Amino acid sequence: MRSDAGLLIGMDCSRLDESLLEERCGAMLVVAPISTRAVADLRIFQGVGIEAVELIVLSIGTHSENRLLSTLPPADFELLRRHMRATPLASQAIIWDSGDSITKAYFPHRGAVSLVMVLSGGQMIETAIVGREGMLGGFAALSSHPASYRAIVQIEGAAWVIDMELLRELAQTHESLKAMLFGHERALMAQTQQVAACNASHALEARLCRWLLRACDACGATTLSTTQEAIAEILGVRRTSISLVAHTMQAAGMIRTRRGQIEILNVAGLRDHACECYDKTATNYERMLGTATAGTEAALVD
Ligand SMILES: [Zn+2]
Repeated sequence: MRSDAGLLIGMDCSRLDESLLEERCGAMLVVAPISTRAVADLRIFQGVGIEAVELIVLSIGTHSENRLLSTLPPADFELLRRHMRATPLASQAIIWDSGDSITKAYFPHRGAVSLVMVLSGGQMIETAIVGREGMLGGFAALSSHPASYRAIVQIEGAAWVIDMELLRELAQTHESLKAMLFGHERALMAQTQQVAACNASHALEARLCRWLLRACDACGATTLSTTQEAIAEILGVRRTSISLVAHTMQAAGMIRTRRGQIEILNVAGLRDHACECYDKTATNYERMLGTATAGTEAALVD
C-alpha cells in the first residue's frame, strides 16, 4: 500500500466500480463494506499515511449491509471482504439468463433482484425476490451448474460481487461459509415453492401485498423504485388489474404511488391483507439469519 493511499468510506462507493473510484480520487482506494449511516460524516481521505489508513480500516469492523454476510464469523467475513468489490445494480439489468454459466456471486445491500422464468410467449414470471438478506449464485457456488432462471434487477441498488471460482474454493475450506450457502439455498427454495403455490391459489390483492412486503424486506426500505407495470409483469397479471387493486390500497392509506415509486405507508395493514405466503417466507429468512423478529420490522430496524 502506498503512503499516498486514499480511503473511501461509505457515501456512494457502492454505486461506483473500483476503476471509476480510482479515476475520481487519483489514489489507491480501500473500499470498505460498512454502513453508510455509521460513517455519514466521513468523506474521501487523500494523502494520508499508511498508518492512518490501517487505523481507519481496523476501526471499520466487520459489519455488512448485506444481512446474510453479517451472519458469518468476523474472520470469514473479512476473508470474503478482501475479494469483493462494489457494483451497481441498474434497474432492469439482466445479471444472468437461464442457461448462462455463473461466474460471479452477488450480495445485494440495496435494491432487489427478481428471479424469473421466461416463457415462450415472452411472459416473465417471478419465482423469488432476492435482496440484502440473500445472495445470487449460492447454488452455483455449491454445484457449478448453469443458471436455471433469469436474474433481473427489479429495484435498482448495489451489491458486493465476488468471483465464483474463488467463492467455491473458499466454501470448500471454510465450514461457516459452506453452511451459509446451504442455509440460503434452503430459504430460497422455500420461497420459490411458496410463490408457486401463491400464484396458483391466492387473490391478487393478497399477492400484491405479499410482493410489496417481500420487496421491502429485500431492500430494507419502505419506498420502492418500481412501477405497477413492472409488478404486473412479474406477477403475470394485467396492468389494469394491478391498477385497480393499487387504487383501492391507496384510497385505504396503505400505499402511495408516485411516478416510478411506490411508498408503503402502513406495513401492518399490508400484513393484514397479505396471504400466509409472506409470513412463511419471512420466517424462513429470519430463521436463516438467526434473528428472532420475523418480517418487515426486523429487516427495517437493523
Ligand atoms: Zn400467497
